[in-house]
Amino acid sequence: MENFAGVGVSAGRVIGPVRHMPKPVGEPPAGERLEDPEGTDQAVAALKSASRAVQEDLKRRASLAKGDAQAVLQATSLMAADPMLLKSATKLITKGTSPARAVWEAGASVAEMLHTLGGYMAERTADVLDVRSRIVAELRGLPAPGIPTSDTPFVLVAEDLAPADTATLDPTTVLALVTSGGGPQSHTAIIARSLGLPAVVAATGVEGIDHDAAVFVDGMAGTVSLNPGAAEGEAAAAYRAAAAVLSVFDGTGATLDGHEVPLLANVGGAKDAAKAAEAGAQGVGLLRTEFCFLERDTEPTPEEQIEAYRGVFDAFPGKKVVVRTLDAGADKPLPFLTDASEPNPALGVRGSRTDLPPPGALGRQLRAIAAAGARATADVWVMAPMISTPEEAAAFAGLCAAAGLRTPGVMVEVPSAALMSEEILGEVSFASLGTNDLTQYTMAADRQLGPLAALNNSWQPAVLRMVRLTVEGSRAHAGVKSVGVCGEAAADPALAVVLVGLGVSTLSMTPRALAGVGAVLGSVTLADAQRIAELAVTAPTASEARSRARAELPVLESLGL
Ligand code: PEP
Ligand code: MG
Repeated sequence: MENFAGVGVSAGRVIGPVRHMPKPVGEPPAGERLEDPEGTDQAVAALKSASRAVQEDLKRRASLAKGDAQAVLQATSLMAADPMLLKSATKLITKGTSPARAVWEAGASVAEMLHTLGGYMAERTADVLDVRSRIVAELRGLPAPGIPTSDTPFVLVAEDLAPADTATLDPTTVLALVTSGGGPQSHTAIIARSLGLPAVVAATGVEGIDHDAAVFVDGMAGTVSLNPGAAEGEAAAAYRAAAAVLSVFDGTGATLDGHEVPLLANVGGAKDAAKAAEAGAQGVGLLRTEFCFLERDTEPTPEEQIEAYRGVFDAFPGKKVVVRTLDAGADKPLPFLTDASEPNPALGVRGSRTDLPPPGALGRQLRAIAAAGARATADVWVMAPMISTPEEAAAFAGLCAAAGLRTPGVMVEVPSAALMSEEILGEVSFASLGTNDLTQYTMAADRQLGPLAALNNSWQPAVLRMVRLTVEGSRAHAGVKSVGVCGEAAADPALAVVLVGLGVSTLSMTPRALAGVGAVLGSVTLADAQRIAELAVTAPTASEARSRARAELPVLESLGL
């Protein structure tokens, strides 16, 4: 049995046939001409027939999809036959340009025009660019870009997935995600955990697996095996049985001896929040506000913001909701805040730094959060991403006070903030550890790079010691100011126990992880968690830290986690 080793980022064991994500469609060369200068009519006919084929394909996909995915596909299918797009491509063809190059250029000008119009029209820009790639693929006889469709469930193999791919990812047909790139904090990993799909990233060589070949994906071990046998079949069946048990969280996070650790949810908007409330989350520990506006290239208006935040607050009446202000940059560019040409975006003007000098978009956002909060009963907390110094924390607290927000906090996601947590907490009311970025910056390893996945692992003892330092710094404010975790580390049940043992007071995670984390946390006392944390934090390597902790938690194996 041939094996491919990667990094397991979302637990689960399944068997299924492989489907590959097609490579992105390349730009047809500038100046590409018609093969036959006399063949204008045929070229125009080819363009029209490609546009029709793309429209039909998108309509068919829409009819198979549900919810958001269906709406996205319907909107895109209309764009495939957009008269303006076809008219301007036809004009270029009559001047001798090849149909592929013509639709590419026409798509660019339509996109630019929509962008200039702003508002709803500007949001259609991505649809035009998607449609032009699809038409070029059709003209060139290449597979259509985007997640493949299939009537039967399959294992999706890709280089990496972008946030936009989630809209068309149907978790009832995609059994597991496997990528050759990406790291444990990459979007693929986050998407997989939020959908509850087993996933392995940084699995070198998987791009060479044959289409339709059967594979066994073990999201816990981080392996992909070709031609699975009876043992793998049994493991997949056992996981299905355990998964049914792990779908329920009773709504109270606590250790076996009753030490309460509220289990909160990470959400990207109102729909996620509704699902999180249904899953029993005790509140929201991280509202990634930039996820509400990822497709925007202009700053959302105060009204749009108020509506987006209220949708989340209303899902958690009377409960804590931690709103993170826009965290733009690096892996989450927002054209209205970030400069795409920076040489090192992860070290650049990102997160709260995008508002220098204040108050710009940040002040407007805080006022919108306050206005939304005033119309809801949720207990609204607000925190800034990428805070590095006590001065930045103080400036943020000042802006929050000016907006009428009473509970300002910061994310601890760069080493300087962990080192200075005592002084930083002197300026704000709470801190939340963003272990995804804290790992990337502690280890100096880009969270999006597959080859660095072993470094980009929150089990690294250096990262655990950063967490310990942060908690130690908070002791001067004991009983008044809390330190929680909202990075992906909180969704790993064994790591969650270590974090609690290190002294964090809340854990926020994708709602899918609540039941597993709740069950494992409830199997140990606080003293056990502290002992396990000590074993992990003093380990010399990440794998030793993980195996030491897991060896103390036999419940993991019985739950298939
Ligand atoms: C983090 O960095 O851990 C975090 C929660 O923020 P994000 O993943 O959105 O950067
Ligand atoms: Mg972060």
